[in-house]
Amino acid sequence: MKSYTSTIKAELCKLPLKDNCCAAAELLGVICYGSYLKNNCLNIRVENISVAKRVFSLSRLITRRTGSLYKTEFNGKVMHTVQIADEDNLSDLLDRYSLIKCSRNLKNYVLFSVEEKFIEKQCCKQAFLRGAFLISGSIINPDKQYHLEMSTNHRRLYKDTENLMKELYLKPKFLSRNNRFLMYFKDSEGISDFLGNIGATKSMLEYQNTRIWKDLTNNMNRAINCDTANKNRTRKASEIHIEAIEKIARTIGLDTLESGLKEIAYLRIEFPDISLSELSNEMTEPISRSGINHRLKKLVEIAESIKEKE
Ligand SMILES: [Zn+2]
Repeated sequence: MKSYTSTIKAELCKLPLKDNCCAAAELLGVICYGSYLKNNCLNIRVENISVAKRVFSLSRLITRRTGSLYKTEFNGKVMHTVQIADEDNLSDLLDRYSLIKCSRNLKNYVLFSVEEKFIEKQCCKQAFLRGAFLISGSIINPDKQYHLEMSTNHRRLYKDTENLMKELYLKPKFLSRNNRFLMYFKDSEGISDFLGNIGATKSMLEYQNTRIWKDLTNNMNRAINCDTANKNRTRKASEIHIEAIEKIARTIGLDTLESGLKEIAYLRIEFPDISLSELSNEMTEPISRSGINHRLKKLVEIAESIKEKE
């Protein structure tokens, strides 16, 4: 079955690619969130073929090189690897994005970060997040749960992304654990805002619809539960009234009651399930709800005052 995440990514991968500021920003998002150095080549490895193809096109557009895309197996899964830069153009690409290559324990790696100048415009900030989401993001079907997340293990990148999100008025929650930095949304509004920002307009609208539908059903269920509770309450009160009226009837007789009380006593027995306002409508001269309540209370008082012969 197609996952919800792949549905969203499929929509994003269909967005047209142009040689502009945004393509460069999207590729930076991809590089920061998913690339790794191996033998002085910069690669990304993903399961989703549409994402792999988009990264391949993006990198060709920006680096003006053909690059390569090939199938690999990783942990028993078929994966797709895109080579974004090789030994010849690696430093050019890193320079282009002001990224620094470092070395520790004989291992080369890139210090990922985002300089403001690459994401100055709003369109570029959004494109950067699109690239980041394509590589590291996941989202759960809103029918089940509201949850969207992205993660990285680069602290500086995490901080830069936090600022970028702030500038777009996005408010994810942040969590870091064992050098894994997580950004996530748990609110449906935050998630649909994020989807709108990264360009998944169709999915955003569907997401909002699901939310509205869910809210509606929840409210309806609440209303039904509430209604049932009210009915139960009415029923309980009515039982007390009827018990009192029956006691009056078998002791002093209903005819001893003054006409207003007598009418309500007969009505209550005739309509045990209806509410006080409905009861009022049955009266020859309708009175207020509190008037009805007052009379029923009076009946209960009268009944309580009668000492029944045992
Ligand atoms: Zn742009």
